Amino acid sequence: MTPVGKVYLVGAGPGDPELLTIKAYKVLRSADVVLYDALVNKEILSITKNDCLKIYVGKRDGRHSLPQEEINALIYKFASQDKIVVRLKGGDPFVFGRGGEELLFLKDKGIDVEVVPGVSSAVAAPSSAFIPLTHRDMASSFAVVTGHPGKEIRWDNFSGVDTLVILMGVKNRQKIAKELILAGRDPQERVAFIEKATTPHQREVFSTLWEVAQSPPEVRTPAVMVVGRVVNIGMFLAELKGAGELCLDTLNELLSS
Ligand code: SAH
Repeated sequence: MTPVGKVYLVGAGPGDPELLTIKAYKVLRSADVVLYDALVNKEILSITKNDCLKIYVGKRDGRHSLPQEEINALIYKFASQDKIVVRLKGGDPFVFGRGGEELLFLKDKGIDVEVVPGVSSAVAAPSSAFIPLTHRDMASSFAVVTGHPGKEIRWDNFSGVDTLVILMGVKNRQKIAKELILAGRDPQERVAFIEKATTPHQREVFSTLWEVAQSPPEVRTPAVMVVGRVVNIGMFLAELKGAGELCLDTLNELLSS
């Protein structure tokens, strides 16, 4: 018999619980079981009913998360018990979240699945740091790339992309910067790292490709790395903080330089 349970693959947003969608909120209210990852803000779990079973399947004390097969098996187990299962992931479930694998596994088993998109840190981190991913006359394209040390990226494939957004790139930042310069990007191009975006602990670190390639600044995880001219805007506004009114002329001068 096909199970009548249902699985929702839900994006929890980048950190601030208020960035959860209304749909995600409603689905969490109805959940019997929630399986959640490390980057999910724990405050969000209090939305669930009192008798909801909450299972952490993320990384523990530096150790790896539960193997994917075990997570799949757990989701399947609860769905076959006709439960409403929420698989809650940081950001959006399909942006480096292995959500696609879970979707295919569950579809193959005949399970009813619905995806609730989330606000990805790929867009939320730059936005909350006043870095527009696109900007008229400055950036008309952006790409989101993994910087995970285990992945070999052909950075020259991205040389024509105006703004690069790199996730999971903190550990590998020096190598990434070197390769981007080798791939033809301007060494003076600005780089921003946005740590713990949309939380009270958000911090921005500004640098240049050259600096990151030579002696990378301290950056704490999780952080999103952004490379491109638009970083100038965020940097300018950060420097201006508390320094009075924005002078658009100065900004335009800086941006055209
Ligand atoms: N599905 C997630 C991304 C998972 S990959 C999403 O859409 O956001 C994990 C990476 O996301 C981290 O290494 C980091 O680069 C980034 N990240 C997630 N949350 C973040 C946050 N609040 N601040 C900065 N980076 C974050």
